[in-house]
Amino acid sequence: MANKRDYYEVLGVSRNASNDELKKAYRGLARKYHPDVNKEPDAGEKFKEINEAYEVLSDGDMRARYDRFGHAGMDGAGGFSGFEGGGFGSVADIFEEFFGGAFSGGSRRQRRGPKRGADLRYDLKISFEEAVFGIEKDIEVERPAMCPSCNGSGAEPGSKPKRCPTCEGSGEVRRVQQSLLGSFVNVTTCPSCRGSGEIIDTPCTTCHGHKLIQETRTLTVKVPSGVDNDTQIRLTGEGAPGVDGGPPGNLYVIIRVNKHKFFERRGDDIWIDLEINVAQAALGDEVTVPTIDGDTTLTIPPGTESGKVFKLKHQGVPKLDRSGRGVDMGRGDQHVLVHVSIPNKLTDEQRDLFKKLAGTLGKEVIPQRERGFFGHVKDALGF
Ligand SMILES: [Zn+2]
Ligand SMILES: [Zn+2]
Repeated sequence: MANKRDYYEVLGVSRNASNDELKKAYRGLARKYHPDVNKEPDAGEKFKEINEAYEVLSDGDMRARYDRFGHAGMDGAGGFSGFEGGGFGSVADIFEEFFGGAFSGGSRRQRRGPKRGADLRYDLKISFEEAVFGIEKDIEVERPAMCPSCNGSGAEPGSKPKRCPTCEGSGEVRRVQQSLLGSFVNVTTCPSCRGSGEIIDTPCTTCHGHKLIQETRTLTVKVPSGVDNDTQIRLTGEGAPGVDGGPPGNLYVIIRVNKHKFFERRGDDIWIDLEINVAQAALGDEVTVPTIDGDTTLTIPPGTESGKVFKLKHQGVPKLDRSGRGVDMGRGDQHVLVHVSIPNKLTDEQRDLFKKLAGTLGKEVIPQRERGFFGHVKDALGF
């Protein structure tokens, strides 16, 4: 897995390629590297790589997951095989298009035997404070579950599935096929049992022979303090159940943090805008500033300009403990960005006072570069 090529690179498309572009790129490459056409020694490997890339990118959900987590997101138990059972339709469709028939050979043939259940995803919306301090939430997840009536056999209680006579339980039918490209062994899914290797004469009335039912389960998610948008929490084994004795998939809870009225998060730091008036800016003041721990007092020194940033150390977000062992990783800081508001409506008294002030300040203006608001913001942000 370590040196796996990027799927977009494999197909030679950009990361925002449309489905049509993907399909076109895939078709061209699949034609070129199909082992029945291309006799180069590495054609088989290439062909597999192309199929795998297309299987993931042509499936909206899997593509989203791949975009977010890369190959790691595809890495269930046993890597890519974790996704078998879902998203295979697209590749088969295309083969049918250019080989004219139910083609399911090559790398996409469905294996018989235990299969890992599909991974599921749940988007969990939480508040800014919940992300900062962590929370335990109950979520209701709709997911497939083993049918309790037939225990996943698909057959009505009292009866049993029997071995498929067409394929003798193997789930596939082989035959040599002649084509324009020469003869090749065409392995197709058994039409009688659709690859399952068994025939169910009296399907279970609860699941109609599908072996699975849809259930709604309440699960408790422990959201650790310091999570942010897109943090994923894995609930191992809470995905779809495995098939024929395979292990269940995982449930991935993806965190979505609601915006806060005035706190803004940047990594583990919190930023807040604070407006002060000209008198406070010129003379200095003690002002009350909200933090996620409650209000605190901030001293504004005399002569504070717009754009000045004050740092409240360790008043930011607790750094996420990725080990899950409850280690205190420290906290970020809170930054207070000051804006000096210039009054645009004055009472008569205020106007008189400003006029007096103006008389003492003079009329001279001094052009300057990189000063004032943006200069200070740049200093504060370290540009
Ligand atoms: Zn069969
Ligand atoms: Zn059933």
